[in-house]
Amino acid sequence: MTKKTIAIVGAGLAGLSCAARLKELGHHVELFEKSRGPAGRMSTKRGEGWAADHGAQYFTARDPLFIAQVKTWLVEQVVALWTPEIKVYEANQWTTFQSQDLRYVGTPAMNTPAKQLAKGLVLHASQTIDALSNKNGQWFLHSAETGDIDKGFDALILAIPGPQALTLAQHLDPDIKTIAGQSNMKGCWTLMARFAQRPEVSFEAAFVNQEVISWIARNSSKPQRTGQESWTIQANPLWSQAFIELNKEEVTGQMLACAKKLGLDCTGAEISVHRWRYASGATAPAISFYTNPELQLGICGDWLNGGRVEGAWLSGYHLANEMTNDF
Ligand SMILES: Cc1cc2nc3c(=O)[nH]c(=O)nc-3n(C[C@H](O)[C@H](O)[C@H](O)COP(=O)(O)OP(=O)(O)OC[C@H]3O[C@@H](n4cnc5c(N)ncnc54)[C@H](O)[C@@H]3O)c2cc1C
Repeated sequence: MTKKTIAIVGAGLAGLSCAARLKELGHHVELFEKSRGPAGRMSTKRGEGWAADHGAQYFTARDPLFIAQVKTWLVEQVVALWTPEIKVYEANQWTTFQSQDLRYVGTPAMNTPAKQLAKGLVLHASQTIDALSNKNGQWFLHSAETGDIDKGFDALILAIPGPQALTLAQHLDPDIKTIAGQSNMKGCWTLMARFAQRPEVSFEAAFVNQEVISWIARNSSKPQRTGQESWTIQANPLWSQAFIELNKEEVTGQMLACAKKLGLDCTGAEISVHRWRYASGATAPAISFYTNPELQLGICGDWLNGGRVEGAWLSGYHLANEMTNDF
């Protein structure tokens, strides 16, 4: 096996699992991430005296490879089971949600497993890669913050949402244009509410159908959460997408009105709102990852593999194996 130098754009769970596996297989890997740290959509918002998971709310594990990863995280104490009382609201009726699924969360915050994976990896944070070029078989990256990255790489991996991969790489390979053009990702307006006291509500989490809101969770019910009583409320994907350009005040008003109708009165609570421009969505069928061996180029991410945390991790892991076997 030839040892390669590989650049990965994006340090969400897909980029991190890909990087960790490539490193394990003997390659030199460097991650470039536009945010200040790793985790991407598996992240946690922090303020004075409070924190709330505002992206992924929990994850499940069904594939043996991912189950093994979750077991490692459990031993490392960076994830734990979350067993909230979950209800479902539909057509003015509440029912109890019945499911045998085990739900995991990062501890003490959702971004902890990503941070754990990032340990020992070379990660360049606050680097938005806005241009790519290939000269004599070497990949070169340009950063919006610092200009040209001063070295070339044998291979390049994009571990970013479909629409962003489309913008960055559609000119490199017509297949990328086709695949990334089908990612069908939708936004998500997310509201975080902090209370002086625990509100009296008959659930700790709720799936809500056919309303402005699609999910409510008591963040403080997750293991090892400290600080102010906090709740996360997510608008439904279709509503979010339709109103993705609406101003925050209007979004807040509509989401709070819906929350009140569902029994969570946020009067007096401190409110923050976050807009995820690309929250969820995936190609159909799932293809796990994409590679172009001639260009030494790969793409991974949840959107190629079902659109969830487990899919993201597996997409990166399998791409790393493929880059080593067939390239
Ligand atoms: C509101 C919300 C709720 C969700 N709920 C759940 C849930 O309950 N359960 C579940 O399993 N999944 C959930 N998900 C989905 C889950 O978060 C994702 O499937 C998973 O985190 C995606 O990982 P990823 O690595 O593929 O992408 P991302 O996490 O999006 O990682 C991509 C990374 O690339 C970076 N990046 C993008 N462009 C550039 C660039 N040009 N240069 C450098 N860096 C760049 C981004 O900053 C980001 O860190 C939710 C997502 C959202 C947003």
